[in-house]
This record gives sequence, structure tokens and C-alpha cells, in this order.
Amino acid sequence: MTIGVIGLGYVGLITAVGFASLGNKVIGVDVEKAKIDKINRSEPPIYENGLKEKLKEVNPNLTATTDMSALKNCEIIFICVGTPSRKDGSIDLSYVKKSAEDISEIIRKSDAYRVIVVKSTVVPGTTESLIPILEKSGKKLGKDFGLAMTPEFLREGSALEDFFNPDRIVIGAYDDKSKEAVSKLFKGFGQNKFYTKLKTAEMIKYASNSFLATKISFINEIGNVCKKLDIDTYEVAKGMGMDKRIGREFLNCGIGFGGSCFPKDVRALIAKAEELDEDPKLLKEVMALNDRQPLKKVNLLKKHIPDLKGKTIGVLGLAFKADTDDIRESRAIPIVDALLREGAIIKAHDPQAEENFRKLFPQIAYSSPEEVLNSDAVLILTNWKSFENLNYKGKLVLDGRRVLKAKEADKYEGICW
Ligand code: NAD
Repeated sequence: MTIGVIGLGYVGLITAVGFASLGNKVIGVDVEKAKIDKINRSEPPIYENGLKEKLKEVNPNLTATTDMSALKNCEIIFICVGTPSRKDGSIDLSYVKKSAEDISEIIRKSDAYRVIVVKSTVVPGTTESLIPILEKSGKKLGKDFGLAMTPEFLREGSALEDFFNPDRIVIGAYDDKSKEAVSKLFKGFGQNKFYTKLKTAEMIKYASNSFLATKISFINEIGNVCKKLDIDTYEVAKGMGMDKRIGREFLNCGIGFGGSCFPKDVRALIAKAEELDEDPKLLKEVMALNDRQPLKKVNLLKKHIPDLKGKTIGVLGLAFKADTDDIRESRAIPIVDALLREGAIIKAHDPQAEENFRKLFPQIAYSSPEEVLNSDAVLILTNWKSFENLNYKGKLVLDGRRVLKAKEADKYEGICW
């Protein structure tokens, strides 16, 4: 099939590379020229496991461009642009709407039937709200073009692996014709497909992310209590997780969740609920606890070093989680911010995220992990595997992510254990 992908960020690029690797012709469009040039040189614009090799492999099947009209022969067009938070937490749909306007121009000039598929995370009702924009083309939904919504569940760090082996594929479709076209594309992906309505597919994504975020805030709350009782929360999580109704995943207590999805999506669902006159107290507390949790780390540090002014603090890990260069809503941001306000001198290291972090914090030093360990105290904020190979002997280490090797430190304390 010939597939178009609008927005070549984490989701769009993986979608484009994935479908190209399955033998489809893929045309990817993005507004960022530098990103397009990199992709066409088979250089990954983001860090993602295996992406470098895959980009080279799919080169003949993947073209990237800033020219939207290149999508004119595509049978399926995915919208994968960002859906950031507005100041009040509600979702900013301007990039999605702009994409729909651009697609409207494409379908206006052609009589070929095609299906528009929203893959960006959008609040329920959004995909349907694009119908009038798309029909500005003079073409009719159902007859001249189709519409679907397939939420994305990939995890950064293992995004390609998740593309090829997804737990499930949710396909919300406007009508049977749209459903058939999208099913054809996902034909080789096994049995775990769930067909539903457009807005149900949209809600499945929000409910899933909100549930996982709730699990993290839940275990952090339990962890804060365990810490005071001298109980290892990881043992509690292990015991809980043996119950298959609960499951062990997402019960790793620490400094909270970050990334481009959980905080933004929970906030967007809260805003949507409020718009509907609901008061989603549970979700609000999930976010409030997540905002408090990184500051607990600073308080823990001050228990050991009450006055941080002029003290050198080493920070290991800046990405919101291991195996990515993504720092969006990373818990390292409020922690570094608080340390700077206390007058601390910061030396930081991350295997992939320093370039991104430097744009936010140009005033701190970026050093080798060995140099970072040479500080008055070391904070572990991301559990990169390589941190298991460092020598922590003789140091004061405060761990926010459970790096077992760090327990060899002279003084070691975990945030919830
Ligand atoms: P991103 O910011 O990495 O990428 C978005 C891309 O869209 C950027 O490259 C940007 O330049 C481009 N863009 C913006 N407006 C455009 C336009 N009008 N035309 C063409 N390109 C345009 O975002 P992302 O992380 O890939 O997320 C995209 C969507 O997928 C969001 O809704 C997000 O919530 C959702 N999602 C993300 C993840 C994840 O792990 N990153 C997982 C599941 C779902």
C-alpha cells in the first residue's frame, strides 16, 4: 500500500519506518526541514533502540518531505502530530486541525478514495470534529474518503519492538469501508485487534494511560509510607504483583512519572471531564502526588546536607526514563530546578539526553559519570543500565530509581525504600 504519515516525531517516524519495513511505500511529511534532511540521509533525528539500522534498511521505501502535496497518491494518511497541553491542562488540537486542513486540500484535488487515520492521542470526539474540516474539500465522508482512529501504545525506548509486536491494536472506524482499509494494512499483526467506534478508541488510549499513571502514583504513596516504616516497597510490589489481578508492571516506586504522554494525557482527561461538569478527584490527586514526589528527593538530600549552597551535587540520569533521549516532563527538571534555587552546583550525566537537557539548563555542568560521582552527593534520577557498572564505593548516593549496584555506596538511601 502507499501510506502517508504527517508528523515524524517519535510516533510518526516509528509508524513510517515500521510500515516501510513491511514493504509499503511510505511518504512522511513534517514541518521541520532539519528533521526531514536527517531522515533522508538515514540518520535518526531521535534516539531509539534499533532505529538507526532500520532507517538504513527501509531507505528505498521511505521518503520524507516538507511538501504536503506529496501525499496525493496515498491510500491511507496517518495524522501523528503532537497534541501538547495548553496552560490550563486541556489539549491543544491546533496541529491536528492544521493537518486535517492540509489533507482537505489534497482530497479536494483528487477523486481517489483514501482513509484518514488519526494516531495522535486526542480527547474523545476530536476525530469526528475533523469531519467538517475534511469535507471543506467538497468531498463526502463515507463515499469519497474514510476516517479511522488508531491510538498508539508504543513505549519510547522499545518503540520498534512494540510496533512489530503490539499487545493489541485498537481500530476505531467511521464505517465498514474505513475499517476494511485499515484492517488490510494491519493484516499481518496477529489476532489482538479490537474494532470499535471512533470516540471509544480515543477514550481507550486516555483510560489506559490514566490507569498506568494511577498505578505509579499509587505505589509511590504506598512507598512513602513504607519508607517511614522501614519496609522495602519493591518487596511489597513483588508480593502484590504475584496476584494476576494486580500484575507487577508499573509498580516501581520512585520519583514519579514523566514523558510526553502520561502527564499531558491525564491533564487532558481531567480538563475534558471538567468540561462535562465532572470532578475527577482521583486523577487530580494522581497528578498532585506526581508533582510532590520529586521534591521528596530534594528533602531527602537536605536530611543529609541541610545547606546545599555551594555544595556539588551529581545527577545521574536526565531522560524521563532509560533508553530514550526524551526529557519532556522528566522528573529531573523540577529536581534540578529546586537544587539550583538552593544554590547547589550541579554536575550531570545522561547517556543520551544531555543535548536536550542543555537547552533547558545551559548553566549546569555536563560530565562523565565518573566525574559526576565525584560530588558531595549523587542523585540517581533515571535507571540506565550503564549505571549498574559504576563504582559507588565511598559515596553518598540517594537513589530515585532503584539502581542495585549503588547500594555499595558508603551511605545509600532510596526515595521509597
Ligand atoms: P513529537 O513532538 O515527537 O512529534 C510531532 C511531530 O509533528 C514533530 O516532528 C512536528 O514537527 C510535527 N508537526 C507538527 N505540526 C505539523 C504539521 N502541521 N505538519 C507536519 N508535521 C507537523 O510527538 P510524538 O511524541 O511523536 O507524539 C505524537 C502524538 O502521539 C501525540 O498526540 C502523543 O500524545 C501521541 N503518543 C506519543 C507517544 C510517545 O511515546 N511519544 C506514545 C503514544 C502516543
